[in-house]
Formats: sequence, structure tokens, C-alpha cells
Amino acid sequence: MGKLTHKKENEIIDIDNHLLNRSGTMEEVVARTRSAFLSGKTKNVAFRRRQLEQLYKLFEEHENEIVGALNSDLRRHKQESTLVEIEIMRNDILNILYNLDEWVKPEKPEKTVVNLLDDVLIYKEPYGVVLVMGAWNYPLQLLLVPVAAAISAGNCVIIKPSEVSVNCAKFIQEYLPKYLDSECYPVVCGGVNETTELLKQKFDYVFFTGSTKVGKIVYEAATKHLTPVTLELGGKSPCYIDSSADMEITAKRVLWGKLINVGQTCIAPDYILCSKSVEKKFIDECTKILREWYGENPKDSEDLCRIVNNNNFQRILGLMKSGNIAVGGKYDATSRFIEPTILVDVKADDPIMQEEIFGPVLPILNVDNVYDAINFINSREPPLVIYLFSTETEVQNLFVQRTKSGSICINDTIMQYVVDSLPFGGVGNSGIGHYHGKYGFDTFTHKRSCLGKSFNKLGEFLASARYPPYSDKKTWFLSTLMKKRKPFPNFYFSHLCAVGIGIGIAFLINYYMKQDGN
Ligand code: NAD
Repeated sequence: MGKLTHKKENEIIDIDNHLLNRSGTMEEVVARTRSAFLSGKTKNVAFRRRQLEQLYKLFEEHENEIVGALNSDLRRHKQESTLVEIEIMRNDILNILYNLDEWVKPEKPEKTVVNLLDDVLIYKEPYGVVLVMGAWNYPLQLLLVPVAAAISAGNCVIIKPSEVSVNCAKFIQEYLPKYLDSECYPVVCGGVNETTELLKQKFDYVFFTGSTKVGKIVYEAATKHLTPVTLELGGKSPCYIDSSADMEITAKRVLWGKLINVGQTCIAPDYILCSKSVEKKFIDECTKILREWYGENPKDSEDLCRIVNNNNFQRILGLMKSGNIAVGGKYDATSRFIEPTILVDVKADDPIMQEEIFGPVLPILNVDNVYDAINFINSREPPLVIYLFSTETEVQNLFVQRTKSGSICINDTIMQYVVDSLPFGGVGNSGIGHYHGKYGFDTFTHKRSCLGKSFNKLGEFLASARYPPYSDKKTWFLSTLMKKRKPFPNFYFSHLCAVGIGIGIAFLINYYMKQDGN
């Protein structure tokens, strides 16, 4: 176990040099991808299905290589990699394949009386050439779930893995082109310089997962081209525990959520808010559970990942100086190991409360009651998730009604992410937009509205009051016709009424036209 050193590291620069682009300049890559889009290939739903099936096959045929790459980058256990990368990816693709035919159908929204004889449709169009940039902490699924969504919606996608998880980036660069059409879905690798160059290009949509700081750079670059964005960002997700919670289950669920990927998870509980008496019970349970899970010497456990690089390792060690260590505190610089650590006596203005921790360190801040906890959360930027452990309905309602966050999870951690019928995304500093399941398809879909009219004489007759010469009677008639009415209770009844109203209106028009003519 080593001491804190302040060595400047150059790991990321080395990684950049590993991943020289094989596809030409960024401008050329984007131009080639744009002509692939203009060929119309990706608009064909059967083509999209084939690509998604291929992506599924990649995860079937190269499971061992994937587990190996994740182990090399993060020393992650096979169980974690299988569940949080491979299964998430495979299930996401299956969900799209099962539902795609339904999702791509044009929607037929409700018509008003005015449009009774018209076609009113919403077509699901791809945006065009999309840029998807992934993060290193879940380097496959955070990149390829949005890529699958963009493919399903009919876009061409430029795929940019994170350079920090170098082995996963190499896997993607080597294997993805063997499975996907590389004209439509090229992979571009690199670090800050390459990303900066890439962001100068014009895309039709940009999807970024990463920090709030870089999210702002991406947003600014996209604004220059008026390109819509989804920004999946980070922040500090709080976790409030009250005395009604089952402390053993709470401790297990909090620790599991904090320690998968050793806390390098955007939705990990970042810090705990609780009373002094809850803190004592929580720490007692955590001490027992950590011993059960990882033994007397957690460094020897196969089940704990390592910190991704020295920059982050040193940063987290710095944050561990806040408050006092109640549990853990050991580390080893050579293997970038940090023991699961709980800090007490932490103050709101301590360094650890100024940035996302992204490591296995859990500070506890004491609050007297639920109102103090809510005030504390509301005094900061809206987080990606708020976790609440309480069986009190009133406390649950207070949290739902009086706080703001991308999502809220009651009496568990992380599991909200796995529910693919829930949108996933942040709000304010934690992000813009959302995805997962159908929400992913919708994110990459431009909803193009279409009104189709015929030259039907009755239709023209009904609409002719809009033409000059204008008159008060025509104005009254058109206002009555256009007036928004409460939706009818059921489909058939509403259409029957609409037909009746239409015929009535036709008579009215006839009457007023004759009057105007007199
Ligand atoms: P990051 O923002 O530091 O880097 C992301 C990518 O941006 C890098 O791979 C790099 O290529 C590029 N980049 C970095 N600096 C740049 C600059 N100055 N100009 C242009 N491009 C630049 O994020 P990260 O370290 O890869 O990931 C960690 C962050 O991501 C955490 O904040 C975490 O909460 C967040 N995150 C969010 C989600 C989510 O779904 N909301 C998921 C995972 C991670």
C-alpha cells in the first residue's frame, strides 16, 4: 500500500498515440457518411434490422474478448461485465427488434372537425448523420446502446469510443467494422484533439456521454450548426436514508450501487444524507457487509475493479482527505486500488462535496430531518438521480414533489437504469434529453408532420369560407368550426359526432354562402 504522490501522468496522451485514425480526416469521414445517408440505404427498415442483428451477433460471438477488454481496462469481474455491459446491450437490441415495426409506423393523431376529410400523419424520419460519443466507465453499452437507437431510427452514425478505456476502444475499432456497414457506421478514435476536430463538423444530431464540463464544450460546438443534442452528463447523486428504512437491506443496496465498477458509475450514490443515529446503524451494517463481500483484505478480492488511470486515482485520494475515515481508507498506487471507504464529519464546503466522486468513497453528511435533506439537495445543481430509503409515504411524496432530478429511485440503487420502459437522462447540469428503449428511437427520430388534402369538392366547399372577400359571417363561421373542443369519450362515438357535425356545417355553409350571395 503506497503513499499519496503528485506525479503528473501522461497516460491519456499515450493512449491517443495508440489510436491513430485509419479513416482519413474528420471532414472526409463525415462527407463519406453523408453520401451513405443520401443513398437512402439506412432508411430501409430491413437494412436497419440486419445491422441490429449483426450488432447482436458481435456480442454473442465475442463475449470472451469483451470480458477480456473490460478486465484489462478496469479489472472488472466477468459477472459485472456480463450483466452491466453484455446483457444490457443484447436486451436493448432485442427490445428494438421486437418493436421496430410498430415504432416506424407513421402515427395517425386525432383529427379535428376541420380535418375530417384529410390525411393527418406523423412520419418517423431519421435526422441523417449522427455523432455518438461514449464514456470510458461503461465503454461498450454507453456507446453502443445509443448507436443501436440511432440505427433503429434510420440514421448513419459516426461512432467515437472513449480513448481512456483503450482496450475497449481497440475492440470496437477492430470488430465493429466486421459486423456493421462501415460506410454508414464508421468508427473514429482519438482523444481531445480528435474530438475537437470532429466537433467542428456539421452533424444532424450529436449524442454525448461524459462530464458536465465537456458537455458544455460539445453543446457550444453543436450550437454553431444549430444541431440538436442529447447530453448524458454526471453530477452528485444524493442518497437520503431515514430511520424507517430496513438498515441491512439499505446498506447492501447502497454499497452495491456504490461499488460496482468501484464507484465509477454516473448513477452511483455519491453521498449519504442522514441523521447521526441512522449514520451509526448504517456504518455498523456496512462494516459487516463489506467484510462478508470482500473479506479482511479487499485488495485480494476478485470482485473489486480498479480506478481507470492515475489522474483519477490521485484525484480520489485527494478527496479522501475530507472529514474522517469511519470505514476503509487503504489504497495501493501500483494497482490503482482504493478500498471501499466511508467518511464521516463531512461538511458541505469540503472538497469532496464540490465534485462528482467517481470512486469507492462514500461521504456522510448529517441532516436532522427530511426537510433539511430536501433543502440541501435543492441548494445544489439538479442531480442525475436522487435515491431515497424510507418506508414513510409522506417522506416519499415530499421527495417526489419537492426535489428535481433526472430520475428518482426509492429503496434501491441503479435498478431504475435497467427498466427499459423508463426514460434515462438528466436535467439541468446533469444533462439534456433522454434515451433507452422507445425513448432512444424517439431521440434519433425527427417527427415530420404531414397534412394531405384531396381535391374533393365537399372538402373545398367546407374550406372555401377562408377565401376573400372576408366578412364577419365568414369569420364567425370559421371561428366556430376551428374552436377546440374537449375530446370525445370514445373513438367511434367521436367519429359519429364528427360526421354529424360535418354534415351540419355543410348545411350552415350552404346557408351563409347563399346569404352572402344575396
Ligand atoms: P469527459 O467529459 O472527461 O470526456 C469525454 C470525452 O470527451 C473524452 O473521451 C474526450 O475524447 C473528450 N474530451 C475531453 N476533454 C475535451 C475537450 N476539452 N474538448 C473536446 N473534447 C474533450 O468524461 P469521461 O471522463 O469520459 O466520463 C466521466 C464523466 O461522464 C462523469 O462525469 C460521469 O458522470 C459522466 N457519465 C455520464 C453518464 C450518463 O449516462 N449520464 C454515463 C457515464 C458517465
